[in-house]
Amino acid sequence: MTPDIDTDSESWWAAIKDGTLMVNHCRSCDRNSLYPRPFCPHCWSEDVALEPASGRGRLYTWSVIRPAGGDPYVVAMIDLDEGPRVMSAVVDCDPADLAADLELQVAFRDDDGVRVPVFRPI
Ligand SMILES: [Zn+2]
Repeated sequence: MTPDIDTDSESWWAAIKDGTLMVNHCRSCDRNSLYPRPFCPHCWSEDVALEPASGRGRLYTWSVIRPAGGDPYVVAMIDLDEGPRVMSAVVDCDPADLAADLELQVAFRDDDGVRVPVFRPI
């Protein structure tokens, strides 16, 4: 995931830096979304605000990437307990142990000086 740091996502990345995963909460329809936008993708309301998420989720689908000459890694779609589906890396696990609905917890990793969210099995 390449961070695209613009004004809408600046505070989201600032929270990641502090070790908190945020979701975009809509006060109009009470649903959550990611990534941060100045509106709700469910009902188009602009009454949205970032709120801290539990950081827990479940594995939806995943791919094992095997770069030539590098270590394999896992890229996954994860359903957060708060609702949004996010794409992230799953770390600290054997790809053979992955299964749908596996419970995951957010963790943070520094990629070239930028802190990014990753997930690991609980
Ligand atoms: Zn909404």
